[in-house]
Amino acid sequence: MLLIDTHAHLYYDNMYENLSEVLKLAESNNVKKTICIGTDLVTSLKSVEIAEQYDNVFATVGIHPHDSKDVPKNYLQELEKLSESNKVVAIGEIGIDNYRNHSPQDIQKKVMIEQMDLAYKLNLPIVFHNRDADNEIFDVLKKHPFHKALSHCFSSNLDFAKKLISLGIKISFSGNVTFKNATNTEVVENISINDFMLETDCPFLAPHPFRGSKNEPKYVLTIAKKIAELRGETLEQIALSTSKNAEQFFNI
Ligand SMILES: [Zn+2]
Ligand SMILES: [Zn+2]
Repeated sequence: MLLIDTHAHLYYDNMYENLSEVLKLAESNNVKKTICIGTDLVTSLKSVEIAEQYDNVFATVGIHPHDSKDVPKNYLQELEKLSESNKVVAIGEIGIDNYRNHSPQDIQKKVMIEQMDLAYKLNLPIVFHNRDADNEIFDVLKKHPFHKALSHCFSSNLDFAKKLISLGIKISFSGNVTFKNATNTEVVENISINDFMLETDCPFLAPHPFRGSKNEPKYVLTIAKKIAELRGETLEQIALSTSKNAEQFFNI
């Protein structure tokens, strides 16, 4: 069985310090490929370095909405340079976050659009973060071209999922589907098996019953089991389709 963690921040100290152990443990839980996601120039470089060190790790480079107010003038050239590595499989994570508002909204939006243009030019998919920003994100996605797009850590409602899917956008589910107060189980139950993938978003958001402890790629298995249960499908079916979807999306 093959599972893929499509969204991990492997460069945080608690994982980075014993990364080969973390990846071995993931593999023994069937999580055999991981996408390491950059959030600014420093962590994008780290993601590329990790991906170049481990065969089964791939990288994205990009500026997270939280960090969009701090980008240097030449950040697009820097991202383009980083994406010359053949282990870079997407631009991300980009997006809009109206929940924490670490950066002003107009700057978040501008930096998202500029990175979409870069991804389009480089023929790369985008991975985007959306927190309480359904309308703004949808507006941007409708007006700006993209090759492929993935809505990570999906937590919006079924109507919004259907709107994204109608634009050809894929969705990924994280450990939040396992929480007792999960609000997105209707989405898990009602979208096509061809439209979603799995992620941990580690080190954040460990799934139930590990909530509050350190999250790692190995927990994709826990998330896959919960999704199989919610959808009335087998774990093998979920593993097969989510891995196929991720391999096609990221071309890995
Ligand atoms: Zn995110
Ligand atoms: Zn993330």
